[in-house]
Amino acid sequence: YGTTCASVENPNIPVKVNHTQLLINGNFVDSASGKTFPTYDPRTGDVIAYVAEGDTEDINRAVSAARKAFDEGPWPKMTAYERSMVLFRFADLIDKHTEELAILETWDNGKTYEQAAKIELPMISRLIRYYAGWADKIHGLTVPADSSHHVQTIHEPIGVAGQIIPWNFPLLMFAWKIGPALACGNTIVLKTAEQTPLSALYAAKLIHEAGLPPGVLNVVSGFGPTAGAALASHMEVDKLAFTGSTQTGKIVLELAAKSNLKPVTLELGGKSPFIVCKDADVDEAAELAHFALFFNQGQCCCAGSRTYVHESVYDEFVEKAKARALNRTVGDPFKAGIEQGPQIDSEQFEKILRYIRSGIESGATLETGGERIGSKGYYIQPTVFSNVKEDMLIAQDEIFGPVQSILKFKDIKEVIRRANSTSYGLAAGVFTKDIDTANTVTRALKVGTVWINCYDVFDAAIPFGGYKMSGQGREKGIQSLSNYLQVKAVVTPLKNP
Ligand code: ADP
Repeated sequence: YGTTCASVENPNIPVKVNHTQLLINGNFVDSASGKTFPTYDPRTGDVIAYVAEGDTEDINRAVSAARKAFDEGPWPKMTAYERSMVLFRFADLIDKHTEELAILETWDNGKTYEQAAKIELPMISRLIRYYAGWADKIHGLTVPADSSHHVQTIHEPIGVAGQIIPWNFPLLMFAWKIGPALACGNTIVLKTAEQTPLSALYAAKLIHEAGLPPGVLNVVSGFGPTAGAALASHMEVDKLAFTGSTQTGKIVLELAAKSNLKPVTLELGGKSPFIVCKDADVDEAAELAHFALFFNQGQCCCAGSRTYVHESVYDEFVEKAKARALNRTVGDPFKAGIEQGPQIDSEQFEKILRYIRSGIESGATLETGGERIGSKGYYIQPTVFSNVKEDMLIAQDEIFGPVQSILKFKDIKEVIRRANSTSYGLAAGVFTKDIDTANTVTRALKVGTVWINCYDVFDAAIPFGGYKMSGQGREKGIQSLSNYLQVKAVVTPLKNP
């Protein structure tokens, strides 16, 4: 294709899109239909490249490759130490190719290059090393049974894992998915999001350079209702892991149940409360609440998208939140110092603008923002609403954009009830200096992560996932391993010869 990324500031790294085909059985191949689809630069809406469009037949090919690599080896038959070393070498290659990977990520997704290169890529290689470390530390137990039997458990890989990922953190989600699955000895067919297929293909190439045998990891680009659905309903796929919207999560869970009852882990949407108590340092709280919402253009499942502020500090907080949003630098995500790039695509862009109009129409106060920026690309002004009420759409739906909603509260009991009054339960932030308030709120919230006086602190070892309709199961940390293991109980009578 030969497209090069025009606005990379460092001319010494001319990045071309080299990989646009499907990666099946260790080879880059065209789709069976020969079809391709465009992937766009969110800064302009221009086509970056045409990518092979996987469909049912390609998923079938990828699953057979993964099936063979699992059933006949070599992957699950290699020693755990050898598997671990492949992952360690992969992590080193990620570090070596950070710039190219970060450029692809920014180009395809619109997130800032600084965020991709300095925050996300180091997290990714760290996470791969974390799971590389686990590969040779997975073992079962000797179990004391009530009879005269020798009982043990063997922890075995499940088999072929189907993994479906979203577009907001393309490479990070790729790593969260493949790290634990590979460490446990599974093989994989992974479908990337249609908006962001490029970086995973590059990374998948690197892991083969690191010594991954062919067929162990297959990457299929394509759309949800075709390639995604084919993967979720495939009879030869033994486990499904999905990250995306709650609506699509329900669909894939149903497909999994209707086909072969493969176990499913889901990481879905959220409408996470960020609670600023009366004793909070308002400057710090406003800065952190800003970060909690606006990070990654507001495109985070765990975005702190309901900012609850105690009435005694409310006015001061709103002023500070507004001032901070006005200060936010929006522009070409490749430029240094830019905090916010464009939204991912025209669909999300239009949806966010509709929510902004709905906020205005429902009577919330628009403190700042509310409009698109420029006439090209998908840039939106950092937007702040105050006087938001629970029954407004902007306080209920996941907007997935740079729109902060500020709500007022009077006492802790009330804010706990309101924070929990949603079908989501992904994360929450609590801002207070009082340890008793922090403990009370933390224990009462029905969410998978509580950040106290901080937000969006991620680490390979910290489990992540949702209560209620925000998901099923946990990813990262030790919890992720159990998603990819079967436990076999082995019972042998103890007899005297
Ligand atoms: P978003 O609305 O943010 O794009 P989705 O949940 O639709 O979130 O997308 C997340 C992932 O799920 C993407 O890889 C997408 O292609 C995939 N997907 C969408 N619809 C389906 C479906 N019907 N079956 C399987 N996967 C799907």
